[in-house]
Amino acid sequence: MHHSTAAQVLCRDHKHFLCTECLIENKHAGCSLRQLRDMTSKADAVLLDFLVLEHLGCRKMYNWFMLRDRIEIEKNNVASHMEFALNKIEKRLEVMLKKEAECMADDIGRAASLSTVLSETITLENTMELLTSNIRELLELEKAASTHRSVRNDDGAKTPRRIKGVDFEVFIESKRQAKEILTHMKDETRRPVAHLELAGALKDICTGRRKIFGKSSLDVKPVAIGPN
Ligand SMILES: [Zn+2]
Ligand SMILES: [Zn+2]
Repeated sequence: MHHSTAAQVLCRDHKHFLCTECLIENKHAGCSLRQLRDMTSKADAVLLDFLVLEHLGCRKMYNWFMLRDRIEIEKNNVASHMEFALNKIEKRLEVMLKKEAECMADDIGRAASLSTVLSETITLENTMELLTSNIRELLELEKAASTHRSVRNDDGAKTPRRIKGVDFEVFIESKRQAKEILTHMKDETRRPVAHLELAGALKDICTGRRKIFGKSSLDVKPVAIGPN
């Protein structure tokens, strides 16, 4: 059946029709062969018809199985594409998130400076630093003066307006500034709450409103399949 020349012989073992070229190839050397021209009985005719039908059936089965296998391959291809798309979406989302995180830090920072939180905090820190250093200095001066007094047994003396080499006006000015700042700064009772508003499409995915990942379809086109 595979050569252009007409079949001459039936190989009983392989159920193959062989032409002269097949016989020259000698692939059925040990097989049980029979000349077709000798197969003339009714039973022979039916047998030959069956064999021809079986060949036809085999060829069709091959094509249909091939088609079925290719559909399976196509199915796997689409599954791979879906995985690939998911991967790509994840990567894009990561890039978007990173960018948004930077914007978010800027936006919240800007909002914070508008609400004077940062500037007031800095003012408070500076004021506290000023207080701490003034207090430390005065404590040292006070300690030195009291040691001095006890040595000289000078009980009940008033704190001197001026300890040798110390200008109290500087302390008094610092105190005035600190008092001014602390009395005018209001007590902070607000509580910050930051929000994230997801983009519409992403929100729809998160809430499950958007359910369809994509749509797959199979198109069986009429193309030549098989070895014929
Ligand atoms: Zn042949
Ligand atoms: Zn054979």
